Amino acid sequence: MSGFDKKEIKDGGAYDLIVAGGGAAGVCCAVTAARQGLNCLLIEREGCLGGTACVCGVMQLLGGRWYDPERDRMVRVVGGLFDEITDGLIAEGAAVDPDTVDVHSYNPYGWYPRMAAGIPCDVDRLKTRLEQLCLEAGVTLRCYTTVTDVEVSRNRVTKIFTHDKGGCTAFTAPLFADCTGDADLAFLAGCPTEKGRAEDGGLCPATTIFYVDGVDTAAYVAYQNEHQSPKLVEIIEDLKAKGEWPYDFEIFIAIETPRPGRMMVNTIRQTGVDGTDAVSMTQAGVEGRAMVYRLFDIMKSHFPGFANAHVSRVFDRVGVRETRRIVPRQPLTLESALEGRHYDDCVASTTYNFDLPDPKRPSYDPMMGDAKRPNAKRKHVKIEIPYGALLPKDADNLIVAGRCLGAEREVMGACRVMGPCMGMGQAAGNAAALALKTGSFLSVPTDELREKLIGQGCIGL
Ligand SMILES: Cc1cc2nc3c(=O)[nH]c(=O)nc-3n(C[C@H](O)[C@H](O)[C@H](O)COP(=O)(O)OP(=O)(O)OC[C@H]3O[C@@H](n4cnc5c(N)ncnc54)[C@H](O)[C@@H]3O)c2cc1C
Repeated sequence: MSGFDKKEIKDGGAYDLIVAGGGAAGVCCAVTAARQGLNCLLIEREGCLGGTACVCGVMQLLGGRWYDPERDRMVRVVGGLFDEITDGLIAEGAAVDPDTVDVHSYNPYGWYPRMAAGIPCDVDRLKTRLEQLCLEAGVTLRCYTTVTDVEVSRNRVTKIFTHDKGGCTAFTAPLFADCTGDADLAFLAGCPTEKGRAEDGGLCPATTIFYVDGVDTAAYVAYQNEHQSPKLVEIIEDLKAKGEWPYDFEIFIAIETPRPGRMMVNTIRQTGVDGTDAVSMTQAGVEGRAMVYRLFDIMKSHFPGFANAHVSRVFDRVGVRETRRIVPRQPLTLESALEGRHYDDCVASTTYNFDLPDPKRPSYDPMMGDAKRPNAKRKHVKIEIPYGALLPKDADNLIVAGRCLGAEREVMGACRVMGPCMGMGQAAGNAAALALKTGSFLSVPTDELREKLIGQGCIGL
């Protein structure tokens, strides 16, 4: 029975696969499964697809390509739908091709090679592209709908319950994919999950993202190059010394969007925010929006290139980097990531580096150091994601893809960016196609799954 207080539960019908969450991972999962003939329902609580990218404004798709210093060029590491989506946006002029960016000096698309391998895109065009991909593949879309509960019987999710303005609806399927970013389905199904830092439950800071237009990008980048300072730390230090910097973060991050002079400001770091708690999120939204305008006044007065800029968009939903992770059948460990371990059942990978700022010291990343003392010894590694990291314990017909994968916390920071999330989504969609006969993700032959993924250009690039 549903935990949602209801008078009547409508029957929403039966599907082959139900995907909860229409972000980077969920869309790729649903499209992949539907392209192979599965009758697939994609449920999304917001009014559009694209998740954190489109609703919180994160417009630079990282982790799909990386800059190889030995070959002095960008290399593709996540292919398949990630390429299809980003190449399509680049062709439409709605994204920047990293191959066209000079990575040998600081540039407005992410300063230095690791970041410049990201693909900045127009998030509204991304939304439309994701919707069209779903419709063309035959995915049934249901937005404005939140999964609120599940029914479980003998290690199987048998039904999910959703809430929308029309009330409560139940849907059935033999297979489910949890792409909520928060592991909502796994959590509701009673599967074990972890949340935050082991010692104190601390969660990585959240960010209210805003865009500014009218930036003199050339002046901004000229300063960065002249001072060899991508994050303007010396200006901030100076402001701090004068008592004019009221924040506990000490770095500035702004990336140019495909529209010249428009930058995404991904700077505000809000500590103590719990993305699974509506009260905490409400407070974070109120605080974040107030911080936007205060920060912008400082940017206008003190940061090179911003004197004539204006705030053009403040995103409604606070961007959350971390909530729950599943406890999987095969965890992706920090040790394996550091040694670059190869998995025979690798279904996705990331070459984005470690990136999970400290819950209480928002400018410090325990794995990477701080802006002045980066952990230069940490070699750039390719991190492989094994199939078992997508399988929650205690639910045979549930697979997870995206940010809430079963990785140790520090590694999650490298897997949570959008390239690997799309890769995991495509892997989960293929796994669903292989699991349909048996109704269990545990029965999927991983060599066959990998063959499919290689055939689709997702892995083994
Ligand atoms: C501030 C910030 C900056 C970042 N910067 C970058 C960057 O520069 N580059 C990069 O590649 N990545 C970046 N990331 C990380 C990246 O954006 C996310 O980790 C990634 O988008 C996660 O993808 P996902 O599909 O797992 O989850 P999401 O994109 O979060 O999608 C989950 C979807 O599930 C829906 N949902 C959740 N619960 C339910 C429910 N119960 N019922 C129905 N629907 C539900 C949500 O509405 C959402 O649409 C950043 C993240 C943040 C917060």
